[in-house]
Amino acid sequence: MKKKTGPRWKASTRAIHVGEEKFRRSAPVAPPIVRSSTFTFSSTAEMKRWAEGRSAAYIYTRYGNPTLTIAEEKIAALEGAPAAIVTASGMAAISSALLAVVRSGEEILATRQLYGGTYRLFRDIFPRLGIRVQYVENDLAGVERLVSPQTRVLYIETPTNPTLRLVNLRQAARLARRFRLFSIVDNTFASPILQNPLALGLDAVVHSATKFLGGHSDLIAGAVAGPEAFIERVRQMVIYLGGSADPGAAFLLIRGLKTLEARVRQQCQTALAVARYLARHPRVARVHYPGLPSHPDHRLARRQMRGFGSMLAFDLKGGLPAARRFCDRVRVFLLAASLGGVESLAVLPIYSSHYRMSRAELHAAGVSPGTVRLSIGLEDPADLIADLEQALS
Ligand code: PLP
Repeated sequence: MKKKTGPRWKASTRAIHVGEEKFRRSAPVAPPIVRSSTFTFSSTAEMKRWAEGRSAAYIYTRYGNPTLTIAEEKIAALEGAPAAIVTASGMAAISSALLAVVRSGEEILATRQLYGGTYRLFRDIFPRLGIRVQYVENDLAGVERLVSPQTRVLYIETPTNPTLRLVNLRQAARLARRFRLFSIVDNTFASPILQNPLALGLDAVVHSATKFLGGHSDLIAGAVAGPEAFIERVRQMVIYLGGSADPGAAFLLIRGLKTLEARVRQQCQTALAVARYLARHPRVARVHYPGLPSHPDHRLARRQMRGFGSMLAFDLKGGLPAARRFCDRVRVFLLAASLGGVESLAVLPIYSSHYRMSRAELHAAGVSPGTVRLSIGLEDPADLIADLEQALS
């Protein structure tokens, strides 16, 4: 069959252009991966309009890309936010979101129990930029005392990594309004299926989209959702600092988002069964899961979340040696960092998310050396429980 080609195109021109016209003619069901670093202008007049800030055309993928836009619109819709941006990683989302609001000489007020990477960013990098971070506990007591004229942001994470403690989102929103702070929540552990902080009065959310949003342990990405003017400032920060998402990762993220709710619902159910099993086990000293009535934040979780999530942690009676023995014996659970994927994972926070933290810092973060964190995937609950049984025996 004769292909439509430019009449005098040379082989290299044909190789670059032929075959792609169909994407402009028919409508694919799955979104295209627009794997192009750059985009054509129709004329120098359009180029000029863009340079003057009068055109929203795509020009270069670090600034924006149609595949990224699809992911951004979906995440904004899931969070009930006016706008969203996807980024290269959760840490790119967190750093760009904060640097969009805080400058040298200003302060962040944060809850102390944070993902280790966020805590290390606050400890090791922000002070070098002249940004001071002060901490409050998860109950937000002492905000009044610590807030200063330089404080710009209230930054919280709920549920926390790895001990699954909760911060009261409504209370955080009230305090932020009272002291005119911009409030940002890391919503990674809950996902937008289980809570929408913006609906409770918070200003913005950040995500490690690597986790539940992607859902298959095959991409690294992040997201920020919030008011349009703020997201535009975050976009500028992403453009400057280079934390833009890759269209291939965005395609996987889009695919993951389509099954997010079904996965999260199933994973919550399995996690509750696993938590109940562990809570009855004689070798387990303590289970950290907000769905258990024994959890200190169970009542708040009932009010604030639409499900208890699929992350849980537990302490073994034998401390670190027992925790290591358990982790070395699991077979269905994989011994790996990260979370929120279809595979169940087990990890020791002191050797992963909370590495390079002193005893005092671990204590403040609520992490004991023998804490094991589990991320519950989509395997059959009976197989997961049988694996726990053999690993604990
Ligand atoms: N926030 C939370 C709660 C996390 O657990 C993680 C990673 O584990 C991050 C942020 C950082 O995300 P990323 O690894 O995608 O940069």
